[in-house]
Amino acid sequence: MQTDNKNTLLNLIRLYGPVSRTKLADYISISIPAISNHVTELLEAGIIKEVGSKQSNGGRKAVLLDMNKEYGYTICIDFGQDIFRIAAININNEILEKRILPSKELGDKNTGLIKIQSMIEEINQKISNHATLLGIGIGISGIINYQNNKLVIMPNLKEWENVDLVATFHDLFKVPVFIDDSARMMALWESVLPGNGRYQDLVFVSVGAGIGTGIIVSGKLLRGVNGGAGELGHIIVEEGGLPCGCGNRGCLEQYASVTSMVNRAKNAIKDGVMSSILTYANNDINQIDSFCLEKALKDQDKLAYTIIIEAGNYLGIGLSKIVNLLNPEYIILGGGGMNISSIIFDELIRSANLRAMSTSMKHTKILISSKEESGLLGTSIHVLDNIFKFNSCMHAASGNILSF
Ligand SMILES: [Zn+2]
Repeated sequence: MQTDNKNTLLNLIRLYGPVSRTKLADYISISIPAISNHVTELLEAGIIKEVGSKQSNGGRKAVLLDMNKEYGYTICIDFGQDIFRIAAININNEILEKRILPSKELGDKNTGLIKIQSMIEEINQKISNHATLLGIGIGISGIINYQNNKLVIMPNLKEWENVDLVATFHDLFKVPVFIDDSARMMALWESVLPGNGRYQDLVFVSVGAGIGTGIIVSGKLLRGVNGGAGELGHIIVEEGGLPCGCGNRGCLEQYASVTSMVNRAKNAIKDGVMSSILTYANNDINQIDSFCLEKALKDQDKLAYTIIIEAGNYLGIGLSKIVNLLNPEYIILGGGGMNISSIIFDELIRSANLRAMSTSMKHTKILISSKEESGLLGTSIHVLDNIFKFNSCMHAASGNILSF
């Protein structure tokens, strides 16, 4: 129990720091002397530090505590179908080093593993002189067996399916390694983001190459019995529709993901539809990507507009199911698909309003994420949660006493 309280205090300092010992006592139901003892141990371990003082109500200055940024860092990977991101992140959620590259530049799994290893080594070399690598986290689009920390299915990057990234990186770097679904990691970050209201009931929908979902219910990440919770991208929106990487037909991500929008543009242009999308792809159909769609929309291009409206409509169908099933406080949308145009957001709201129960819809706020690195930052939170036995989502919503 002692250790639990110490970890809880550390988590509170991470979430609310800089914070005074007195303020910590508002958040946790243990005595101030007990708090002081734990704080002394954490200061001696170098995980936290004193960072100045603040005038308290009684007139005495209260010493403030915060995480010691120099204590250690994580290396986190956000492995998307299109974009690969890797970063070193300190225990105060600040990105120290970052690399971004198209996932295809990794090549096959053999060359890819070597490239990832050398990126980690290069980043470590820059940072490890003044901090310790605490762990490695991998956010990936796939189904993860959370019990054994292993990847089960990866519909969009099939070649990597049988690669045991956890064991490989653990053997190479001798630190704990954790893997989880990237949309889940994004949800985690949104729920702990300072200033974001500390959401307890939240669904994050990532509209990227595929469609992923991270669900937080009553302050806990929902994983499902075998890690399959949140596969919004694979709910059927068209019976017998387009084939999907999961083996089924008519899945949402075949109608509303960035990949599906790009494919739709390519097929229409192959069929002879005139569109400025092709102009922005240097008149080469193979070069069409989401940026071409974005630019064509600014030209009022009819094909681009139709594609974005259809995708928005299908996303609204998906969102209405989330609203009716979970009635979360927030649905936060992110991923490259949401950057194409605000039209997609307006359309998905219209479509969801048509289909969801109005009383539930009225109380669920739907927003766009403001942070491109939410996958990396959430993965770092996940690593620290596991190392320090935190539960980042389980925190006071408005300064209430916590019960762990
Ligand atoms: Zn599917």
